[in-house]
Amino acid sequence: MNFNEPKIRVPFFIPSLGEEEIASVCECLSNGWITSGRVTRDFERQFAKEIGGDVETVAVNSATAGLHLSLEALGITQGDEVILPVNTFTATAEVICYLGAKPVFADIDYRTMNIDPDQIEAKITDNTKAVIPVHIAGHPADMKRIFDLARRHNLFVVEDAAHALPSVHDGRTIGALDSDACVFSFYATKTITTGEGGMIATRNKDLADRCRVMRLHGIDRNAFERRYNATNSWQYDVVAPGYKYNLTDLASSIGIQKLKKSQKFAGQRADCVALYKKLLKDAPVDLPEDPGPGDETSWHLFIIRLKQDDRAFRDELIKRMSDDGVVCSVHFIPLHIMAHWKKTLELRSDQFPVAEKNFDNCISLPLFPNMTPEQIETVASALKRNLASMRG
Ligand SMILES: *Cc1c(COP(=O)(O)O)cnc(C)c1O
Repeated sequence: MNFNEPKIRVPFFIPSLGEEEIASVCECLSNGWITSGRVTRDFERQFAKEIGGDVETVAVNSATAGLHLSLEALGITQGDEVILPVNTFTATAEVICYLGAKPVFADIDYRTMNIDPDQIEAKITDNTKAVIPVHIAGHPADMKRIFDLARRHNLFVVEDAAHALPSVHDGRTIGALDSDACVFSFYATKTITTGEGGMIATRNKDLADRCRVMRLHGIDRNAFERRYNATNSWQYDVVAPGYKYNLTDLASSIGIQKLKKSQKFAGQRADCVALYKKLLKDAPVDLPEDPGPGDETSWHLFIIRLKQDDRAFRDELIKRMSDDGVVCSVHFIPLHIMAHWKKTLELRSDQFPVAEKNFDNCISLPLFPNMTPEQIETVASALKRNLASMRG
């Protein structure tokens, strides 16, 4: 045992799992049907209802799977290019490669940390087929301009909404906008979780049908339908070499309970953010802006920017916060500096000046629904104290 190990006073994140989730999983275990079935279908329906705007929903075992299936259903293939922000998690880019297509990174807007529509436009070629905006931290990307240039250049739009439940853009819930598909994540640290999981929301019935087939081996209907609806329960056909991306009923049983609480969680996060903003009002940092009129954010992350564009300074601050028992993080290490993307796409830092600056000074503070005011005060005072001592 290492007695020098600092005690964690404020973790970066704690998933809110209550009695309802535990009871729901136990019920699923005792009824004996644990893989994709009735509960997953209920989860899909309730998710569609939550999003509104009569969308089709397809439950999958990760957002990564959902992004892959959506691009596959849109026919993205070898030789195609897909534009995405450089400031995202690697999953957004890797799914493009699964299909033999090429990810093309675009720089971000400094203020919002989201993809810069001007930079999308600058990267469009004859091979560009799609764009994947990411709603960073739940803050809606500039979808009005993205839809406009997608229309003009005949591009598909697939939203990476891994952070954006519940978020609102221009008065409409993210998931019910005009994109071809919108993909949510239920990974352990996301705003609602099923352990691992994801959901595709789309208004395109054909796309939804293709995703439903491809999430389960390219089989033409799922096991539940074979068992309960079809006359010949053993019969099925394989129409494509599909994938194994279905969400289990065990996971969905957690998701159904979490979904009921998603608005409550969002309110709790917003309260935490309000207190952070009050306590850090005079601190030498740039606080994240509230979303503009008509927009709402899930506040999946609370990302502040330091005044110093200095990675070593930021790293030292995170270390000192950790010594004080406060766990911070960085979202994201931009993909152009990751070994694989840098090498295979021959990327240079000077191609992404805004993402570089953002990476130099960004730091994500702890934020989770059941965070107490005392915990927020602990983080804020540790931040102010460490910044003061580091600035000499
Ligand atoms: C978490 C995350 C994903 C991947 O989600 P999974 O459900 O873990 O596959 C994709 N994009 C972004 C921006 C994420 O943060």
